[in-house]
Amino acid sequence: MMGAMMSGRLAVAATLGLSCALAVVLAVTGWRISRQQLRVPVAGSEGWWEEEFGRGARQVARLEALWEEALDARAQAFLAGEDPRDGSVAGVRSVYRLDSSKKEPQWLAGETLTSPPLLGKYAETEDAWVFPDQALVGSGWMDEGDGRRAYVRGNGAAAVVMVLDPERTAKVVRREARLGRGESELGGSWQWLAPQESATPRGDADESIRQLSSFGAWTLRIWNPVERQIRYQLPLLIGGFVAAGVVMLAGGWLAWAQAGAWKRAAEQVSFANQVSHELRTPLTNLMLNADLAIDDAARGGRSVSPRLGVMREEMERLSRIVENVLIFSRGRHRTRQLREVDLVAPLGEVVEGFRFPLARKDMSLSWERPDTCHVATDPEAVGRIVVNLLSNAEKYAGAGSAVRVRLAQVQGRLRLEVADDGPGIPAGQERRVFRPFVRGGSSTREGVSGTGLGLAISRSLAGELGGRLMMVSAARGACFRLEIPLAERRAG
Ligand code: ADP
Repeated sequence: MMGAMMSGRLAVAATLGLSCALAVVLAVTGWRISRQQLRVPVAGSEGWWEEEFGRGARQVARLEALWEEALDARAQAFLAGEDPRDGSVAGVRSVYRLDSSKKEPQWLAGETLTSPPLLGKYAETEDAWVFPDQALVGSGWMDEGDGRRAYVRGNGAAAVVMVLDPERTAKVVRREARLGRGESELGGSWQWLAPQESATPRGDADESIRQLSSFGAWTLRIWNPVERQIRYQLPLLIGGFVAAGVVMLAGGWLAWAQAGAWKRAAEQVSFANQVSHELRTPLTNLMLNADLAIDDAARGGRSVSPRLGVMREEMERLSRIVENVLIFSRGRHRTRQLREVDLVAPLGEVVEGFRFPLARKDMSLSWERPDTCHVATDPEAVGRIVVNLLSNAEKYAGAGSAVRVRLAQVQGRLRLEVADDGPGIPAGQERRVFRPFVRGGSSTREGVSGTGLGLAISRSLAGELGGRLMMVSAARGACFRLEIPLAERRAG
């Protein structure tokens, strides 16, 4: 009974634990789903904008200077009569030379243009700009009017004109501009974009400004600094907590109902235990008196009424039921006091006790054993197991069948088998019949009385003895085997 109460408590605790775990999972899931991380832009201060635009302007100036330096170095090399085509500056489409002595521009490198630059058209000069038939000096930028731009460097006698390709220039600038992209020290982000580039890294910029340079127009886009903020979707959050609460309540109710059911079951077992206790003494007295009556009659030479024998047997059966109920309600898995005994004699007594009742049902009984069988065990518990197994054989094997009890020592174990050639246990029921209160379908159908405790108690007793009770397959009928290691010594 204690064991049943313990498992009852465990079941209640498991229900509570499971419902708590489920509630926590629901609450946490709700919380996580409802949680949103937002990136909220924060307006930059005036100083910040100025800083960012200044940074952009400096970047353009740096690129312009680098570009012009590279172009000028190439132009001077051409003027000096070298041909630095291998190290041509990216973005340059074609290079022409204008000589004071020649009317037409002379092509030097790159593509030949259908309309080569005609210096006579241009009036824009930087230092002292000179027309083709005069001396050519200084350097500067020219706008050809059709979207082309050109860089010119003259040395008095001649000038080199480098016509730039707007698309190639944009490509170079884009590559350079990418170097200038990054996180601002003030928390925002900024990017230089070449005129053609339209894609932006993260949606629309918060601010954009156009800036003109030697390469064309630039756009400086600026994104505000962003702040990460956590927001919760209330319906989801509340839903998660409500679901968790409902699960907790349901779990609590279930555990409460379970506890009640276990308590009632425990009370019933306790009641059965008390009744069995009350029955035990009068039953023992009745059996004693029946035995005395049979002995008296035998001593006086009188014949004993067969009815007395039947009464004695029924008392025996009742006593077995009472004993089983008492053992069951006492609880399982107790430690037993083991002692070294020769089991042959005590088990022989138990087996012989069944000879007469079996014979009355026209059943035969064979008892095979060695001369001695020493083992450290509790003979009473072994006897109880044999009583239960033989009682089942008597109940279920049917009239005319043969019951065999065999005791042997096999490979360091005591092996005790009780077999019959009755209908046996149907396939698929072999495990079930060892559970408490479980009775085979046919037993109840055929009206054989029983409590469904015999096999459960026997298996539990076998465990207490350090052994095990199992069903072994047999050609016919049922065969149960108890095995106990001979070397097993257990102190109680
Ligand atoms: P009970 O005999 O009180 O029903 P047991 O736990 O001793 O309880 O047995 C459980 C069930 O196992 C029985 O109801 C019966 O169906 C089946 N059983 C046990 N022993 C035998 C056997 N020798 N032959 C056939 N069926 C058996």
